[in-house]
Amino acid sequence: GCNNFCTYCAIPSIRGRYRSEKLSDLLAEAKKLSDDGVKELILVAQDVTRYGIDFDGKPHLIELVRELEKLDFEWIRLLYLEPEMVDDELIDFVKNEPKVCKYMDVPLQHVDSGVLKRMNRHTTEKSTRELVKKIKDAGITMRTSFISGFPGESEEAHRLLARFIEEARIDFAGVFAYSREEGTPADRMRGHLSEEIKRARADELRAIETEIIESNCDARKGSVLTVLADGIDYDRQCFVGHTARQTPDVDNVVYFTSDEEVRAGEFYRVRVDGRDGIDLTGRTKQ
Ligand code: SF4
Repeated sequence: GCNNFCTYCAIPSIRGRYRSEKLSDLLAEAKKLSDDGVKELILVAQDVTRYGIDFDGKPHLIELVRELEKLDFEWIRLLYLEPEMVDDELIDFVKNEPKVCKYMDVPLQHVDSGVLKRMNRHTTEKSTRELVKKIKDAGITMRTSFISGFPGESEEAHRLLARFIEEARIDFAGVFAYSREEGTPADRMRGHLSEEIKRARADELRAIETEIIESNCDARKGSVLTVLADGIDYDRQCFVGHTARQTPDVDNVVYFTSDEEVRAGEFYRVRVDGRDGIDLTGRTKQ
């Protein structure tokens, strides 16, 4: 669940208040996965940063992850981190803990302070810019999501978001055209934009982000990455996997070939030789 009550979102009314699983239950479940040979643990919640806040008013995410690190996972990935809860301590923790993927999925939703306020987000343009800079300076890969065409989003606010995406060069960003959720405060707001404008704005933002992802892929050419194999892509006749800086089924992937046997769930060193659209391509390194 979630207690944030963003004005566009129906999740708090559907799933209820934020409730944390007991630490001992999570550890028992994780232990089973680790005993089964699972290499990557994805810790996911509507807002993972607030883990345990319903126990005693304080977040216990770092404590939980420190316990999970004692198990046999190679990678631990955290999804999703609400921006107002991402502080210096959490950034340092992600940066320095060997098993924690250097990857943060922080849904920003917008950058214009007026739009953020109407969304009931607990951030501003200033705090958003500062946070993105801190995450990038720490060398952490960042994913985010943006909502384009929120009710009352002016052309100026849209331009601000487009410039922000262009300049901030966030590694991955999903752009969604605002869609009305019945019963939410945003649904009752004035200033709904036409479907045509929402679509055009979202397409423009997506094109900017695609160019960023493609140029990041080009910059990786020649580098050797640690890839967790996920399986075979029969259409492309090659293997497919992801790195610690790519969330499976969410971000781009690494397509690779190999002279050696490749097994899903094992790690391989892959030399990047190019890209296919936004995906990386390569070959295992002998
Ligand atoms: Fe909670 Fe996310 Fe919905 Fe906001 S958008 S209310 S943070 S689930």
